[in-house]
Amino acid sequence: MNLQLRSPSSATGEFLARRHGMMIGGEWKQAVSGQLCDVIDPGSGKIVAQVPNGSAEDVDIAVRAARGAFENPSWRAMKPNERSKLLWRFADLIEANLDLLAEIETVNNGMPLPVAKVGHLASSIDLIRYTAGWPTKLTGETIPVSAPGEWHAYTLRDPIGVVCQIVPWNGPLMMAVWKIAPALAAGCTVILKPAEQTPLSALLLAELALEAGFPKGVFNVVTGGGSVGAAMASHPDVDKIAFTGSTQVGRAIVTASAASNLKRVSLELGGKSPVIIFPDADLESAISGVAAGIFSGAGQICTAGSRVYAHRDVFDRIVEGVATAAEALNVGYGFNEGVQMGPLISSAHLDRVSSMTNAGVREGATVVTGGEQISSEGYFYKPTVLASLRPDMSVVKEEIFGPVLSVLRYDDDDLDRIATEANSSVYGLAASIWTRDFKVAHKMAARIRAGTIGINRHFVGDSALPFGGFRQSGWGRERGREVFDSYLETKSIASPL
Ligand code: NAP
Ligand code: MG
Repeated sequence: MNLQLRSPSSATGEFLARRHGMMIGGEWKQAVSGQLCDVIDPGSGKIVAQVPNGSAEDVDIAVRAARGAFENPSWRAMKPNERSKLLWRFADLIEANLDLLAEIETVNNGMPLPVAKVGHLASSIDLIRYTAGWPTKLTGETIPVSAPGEWHAYTLRDPIGVVCQIVPWNGPLMMAVWKIAPALAAGCTVILKPAEQTPLSALLLAELALEAGFPKGVFNVVTGGGSVGAAMASHPDVDKIAFTGSTQVGRAIVTASAASNLKRVSLELGGKSPVIIFPDADLESAISGVAAGIFSGAGQICTAGSRVYAHRDVFDRIVEGVATAAEALNVGYGFNEGVQMGPLISSAHLDRVSSMTNAGVREGATVVTGGEQISSEGYFYKPTVLASLRPDMSVVKEEIFGPVLSVLRYDDDDLDRIATEANSSVYGLAASIWTRDFKVAHKMAARIRAGTIGINRHFVGDSALPFGGFRQSGWGRERGREVFDSYLETKSIASPL
C-alpha cells in the first residue's frame, strides 16, 4: 500500500482553484439556479473543486446554443478539410497540456498518473488525429437505379444535428474524446455531460476546443447530476444521445427518447467479459493478462475480464498465480511513484463493490485473496479473487465494476459447450482467449458473441478498431469507420434525366 498523499503540481492546483463555469455558446456560465456541486478526490476523500450543478434549464439554454451553432454557416458550411484542421489543432493543444490534463484525471478519478498519461491522454490524442483524417472521406455513393428511363441518383450524408453525449467517470477525458471527435468530424454540434463525480477534464477540453478554433456553440459542456442527462434524453430539440454508462440508465434513455422525439440513441453499456484459458496456454502470460484484465482501473472498466473460465488442468495454477499477482500489486494514491492501482471512484461505489462481493460469499464463494476495503481516507478496495463458484451466482452474472475476479473451472473439451457457457450472459462487450493453438483461438473467436475479442491479450483496442457491444452491452459502435454511422443520416437524391 502506498497511501501517503503527494500533491499535484502548482498548475493543477491553480486549475482546481478556479471558479469553474459550464461552457455554453462559447462562454463560461454558472447554473441558472446558482447551485454548485463538490468535486472529490477519491484517493483522499477530500473536496478539491466545485462546479456548477446544472439542471434542465441549463440544458435548454445549451440546446439553443448548439442548435444555433448547427444552423450557422460558419459551422454548417465549413469545408471538410477545415474541420480536419480544427481537430488536428485540438489534438495538438491537448498534447501541449498533457501533463495538466493527466494530473486532473488522477486527482479526479484516482487513476495512477502514468496510466493517465500513457493510457488515457496518449490514446485520446491518437483518436482525435485518426478522426481528423475522416471529414474529407465521409462520402455518399452514386446508385444505379432500375426504374424505367435514365436516372442520376446518389446519396448524401448529413450530420445528424444536435448531439448530447453523456459519459461516465471511469475514463472521464477518454470517454469524452471518443464521442466528441467523431461528432465534430461529422459536422454535428455537441453538448457533453461529464459524470457528476468527474467534470474537470471536460471543462479544460471545452476551453481547448475554443482555442483550437471551433466556432462558439459547437462544443458545449453542462455539468451536474443525472437529472442533466435525463433532461437531455427527453429534450424535444436534441437529435441524438450518445451514452456510456450503466445498462439501467441506458434503458432509461431509450425510454425517454421513445416518449419524446425518437431521437437517435447509441449506447456503450456494461459487461461481464469472459476470459477463456485453454490448458496449452502460456500460463505466465495468461496470469499477468488476467490480472491486468481485472485490476486495471481498479476493475472499473466496462471491458474488464471479470469472469475467468480455466480448464481443470490449469485451474489451480491460474487461481494461485492471479492471487499472487493481486497481493503484489502496489495499491495507492495515484500521484505516488510506482502505484499500479488506485481507489474506487466514490464511497457509494466502494459500498456497492463491497456488498456485491459479500453477497457472493454468502452464496458460497470463497475469497482466495482480498475481499475487503483498505482502511484509509480514500476509497480503496483490495484486489480480490473469488473461487468455488457456480454459474448462477450473482458475482458470476452481474457487473461488479471493481477489482473482483471470479474464476470458474471447466472440465469440457468441446468448443461449442465452452462457448455456450462463456456466452451465457446478458452482456456481450469483450472476451479473451488464451491458447497456443491458433486454430482453436480463431474457432472460439467466431463462436463468442461479443464486440471485442482478444487472443492472448485481454484489452485489445485501437483508434481504427470498432468498439461496442452485443446484447445488453449496447447499441452501435465507437471508433473506426463505423462510428460515423452514429452521427450521419443518409439522404437519397434522384432525378430522371
Ligand atoms: P450511470 O448512472 O450509468 O452514469 C453514467 C452517466 O449517466 C453519468 O454521466 C450520469 O450522471 C448519467 N445519468 C444518470 N442518470 C441518468 C438519466 N436518468 N438519464 C441520463 N443520464 C443519466 O453509472 P453510475 O451510477 O456512475 O455507475 C453505476 C454502474 O454502472 C457501475 O457500477 C457500473 O456497473 C456501470 N458503469 C458502466 C460504465 C461503462 O463504461 N460501461 C461506466 C460507469 C458505470 P451522474 O454521474 O451525474 O449521475
Ligand atoms: Mg448513477
